Amino acid sequence: MAPDKGLRPHSGPSTATVELEGRLRQLIALCPGGVVTLQGACIIEADHKAARMLAFTNPGPLIGRRVANLVHPEDRVRFNAFIGSLSDSPTTQPCELRLISNDGGLLEASLVGAAISYRGAPAIQLVVEDLTTRNATRRLLAHQALHDPLTGFPSRVLLVDRLRQAIARIGRSDEQVAVLFCDVDRFKAVNDSLGRDAGDELLVAVSRRLRVSIRPGDTVARFGGDEFVILCESIGGIDDATAIVQRVTASLSEPFTVGGEEISVTASIGVSLGTNRLADPNELIRDADAAMVRAKDLGRGGFEISDGTTHERALGRIHIESALRRALEEDQLEVFYQPIVTLSSGVLHGVEALLRWHHPERGMILPGQFIPVAEDSDLIVSIGTWVLEKAALQATKWEALLGTDQSLKLSVNLSARQLLQPDLVQNVRRLLAEGLVKPSQVTLCLEVTETSLVRDTEQAGHILKDLCDIGVSIGIDDFGTGYSSLSYLKRFPVTTIKVDQSFIAGIDEVAHDRTIVSAIIDLAHALGLVVVAEGVERPEQLATLTELGCDMAQGFLFERPLTAKAVEELLEGSFPNSYSHLLQPTSRSL
Ligand code: C2E
Ligand code: MG
Ligand code: MG
Repeated sequence: MAPDKGLRPHSGPSTATVELEGRLRQLIALCPGGVVTLQGACIIEADHKAARMLAFTNPGPLIGRRVANLVHPEDRVRFNAFIGSLSDSPTTQPCELRLISNDGGLLEASLVGAAISYRGAPAIQLVVEDLTTRNATRRLLAHQALHDPLTGFPSRVLLVDRLRQAIARIGRSDEQVAVLFCDVDRFKAVNDSLGRDAGDELLVAVSRRLRVSIRPGDTVARFGGDEFVILCESIGGIDDATAIVQRVTASLSEPFTVGGEEISVTASIGVSLGTNRLADPNELIRDADAAMVRAKDLGRGGFEISDGTTHERALGRIHIESALRRALEEDQLEVFYQPIVTLSSGVLHGVEALLRWHHPERGMILPGQFIPVAEDSDLIVSIGTWVLEKAALQATKWEALLGTDQSLKLSVNLSARQLLQPDLVQNVRRLLAEGLVKPSQVTLCLEVTETSLVRDTEQAGHILKDLCDIGVSIGIDDFGTGYSSLSYLKRFPVTTIKVDQSFIAGIDEVAHDRTIVSAIIDLAHALGLVVVAEGVERPEQLATLTELGCDMAQGFLFERPLTAKAVEELLEGSFPNSYSHLLQPTSRSL
């Protein structure tokens, strides 16, 4: 501010001016930035804050310096333009640039400034703010948002972004991008047995091996858990992708040392290829994921290449699921019953309830096509409950047709998810009370598979015991196709095992199958269990089974699955010796 020369020519600055100067100094002291004044290209004044920012102990050494020498060479053009703009207008956008401090370090700074008059000559006053810490924090946060904290590798968000860019780069060329979805096999076992720290150590080690097995420009991302996704750019096609998978697999082949233990690791890998610039990143990842699941189903350490139809297949499943829900509501389901025959007498021992779907357009659909879809959701619980109720209701009708000394076993299949339903025992108890009025005559057998027993062994054990306590017997279905762990035959209250039809198919021709079935029968008998052979189609199979001492059989040779009405007719007709004609001495002696 100009001194008030007219009023007090000889007495120095006025009180108002002194006050104003004091206020200005205080304001400057409060300002978070340092203040620097330039005249021409040099610094003529700087405060302590500015000096400290630039690693000087006091402003002295700054005075007289060419300011451009403090600016990072790459930022000097921008700095000069900024200074030039200040003479035109005092308020401009802040300028962010790097300053070189006295100790050689770099300072990320923001400058604001104004053209002023200093002792009668034009000058520039700058306020310098140190952004180094703020920018570092921002960069850290951005990095954390885009990277996995454990491995430091890109996260899903960054991978999708890079995949999108890679797809855009394909342009019109013939090049492709490959997405490899890798899932470490049996990782949970490592976590459970060696602890989470060892599990983390393993994941870091795996991520490093994956990284070195691919080219520097490609990306390895961690999707969480034991899932890694690799993006490979500029590849020629399936052969290249297969070669990469082999390199990745080979990189994991050497054992890892974690938690002081040496462990071998494999990964199941699913691959999808993006062939044109319209490919969608998320779909490519989804296809690779689905291919990985298929690879895992086929056994550990394998890989599958997506044929690009996974998405359509998934849509097909969704379609089946919603149609199946409708089927349940609109009465399109029907239970058929397939006879199970006692081999020593040809007497009808019981029937197995088998579901059929009368699709309004596609006709009859067998359970193999829809039960697996239903098993992926809770739909199997409603369907299973419906089958149980329907069969129990049917049983009361059959019951009326039985003589007082006759009995019939009703077998119903139970999926793993149904078995673990908390209200299963209660539901079955209610059905027995309401439906199967004389349980001594029509008894219920629930068929479970080996796989459902190992899902949650302890809970399954409790539930099966409770079922036994209310008079339900338990059969193991498809025996030989799952874990075939004989220990649970002892552990669970099982009464029957059903030998899978794949062993029965060649029992009279393939010595190996005959040996297996013979061993199963002997073992089951030693444990006091009843053996049922599934899928008996030919008299020769029947003869062999009889010779091996198998107790019962089920198959097209006796009967295909029948409608409830047809079973009723059977009970009214030839029952109980319905199939004795098939057990001719000629066939038995074969
Ligand atoms: P499963 O329980 O092992 O049933 C036996 C399957 O073998 C039935 O197939 C039956 O029709 C078929 N089969 C019987 N004898 C022969 C034969 O001589 N030759 C051949 N090739 N096959 C024979 P289906 O009815 O198609 O059922 C397939 C599977 O679907 C069943 O296998 C069972 O696991 C499941 N399933 C059927 N109904 C239900 C149900 O209500 N609930 C649940 N959870 N699963 C069911
Ligand atoms: Mg069955
Ligand atoms: Mg079976």
